Amino acid sequence: MGIKENLSYVRSEIERFKVEDEVLLIPVTKLHDVDEINLAISEGITDIAENKVQEILSKYERVNPVNWHFIGHLQTNKVKLIIDKVKMIHSVDSLRLAKEIDRCAKLRNITMDILIQVNVAGEESKFGISPVELGPLLKEIRENFDNIRIRGLMMIAPYSLDSEEVRKYFREMRKLYDEYKEEYGMDCLSMGMSNDFRVALSEGSNIVRIGTAIFGQRDYSKKQGN
Ligand SMILES: *Cc1c(COP(=O)(O)O)cnc(C)c1O
Repeated sequence: MGIKENLSYVRSEIERFKVEDEVLLIPVTKLHDVDEINLAISEGITDIAENKVQEILSKYERVNPVNWHFIGHLQTNKVKLIIDKVKMIHSVDSLRLAKEIDRCAKLRNITMDILIQVNVAGEESKFGISPVELGPLLKEIRENFDNIRIRGLMMIAPYSLDSEEVRKYFREMRKLYDEYKEEYGMDCLSMGMSNDFRVALSEGSNIVRIGTAIFGQRDYSKKQGN
């Protein structure tokens, strides 16, 4: 199947499984060509996501107008390279990173939308803060950084062949989101990828980040640096 067919299938699955009224589909375009990305945009895609700074920079000029999201681990020294290119940074997981985002946003006279990445399953291999660190980090960011707007939370579930196994993590994340939503005016809960977006949606996700189910397998031989 092609990108067009995959997109309409993913869209119909989102309609089937979502519990929130509004769900944003963000195709994850890492390691995919500009032509494929522009095809998705011609099919009505408004937002795309990348996980490497270098890849955004190398594609940016050739991709048709779209909202870019950053979803990978972000080194503080690279924030300045993407601050004027992305609409939202999903992967904020330290005060230090938030501080640099605020500094760069201030220089540009903009306010950057961010999500806090939470590692609910406590996996060693994944970035993100632990649930107990969330409250203090949110508070620090709100009190200190005027050029950051906290829009919500993001998570990457542990990989499992049985997507039902990860339901408990999505549920836990939803609980955290509900705990802080009102206080911080959050409206984004970014969870769900190709293999688990149905479960994530049924647990209340309103942003899904989907690569493989739209563009097919990634060719990792194309991989560059960070
Ligand atoms: C690659 C990636 C995705 C998409 O993964 P698929 O399994 O291809 O849908 C989603 N979120 C993040 C943070 C990613 O790095």
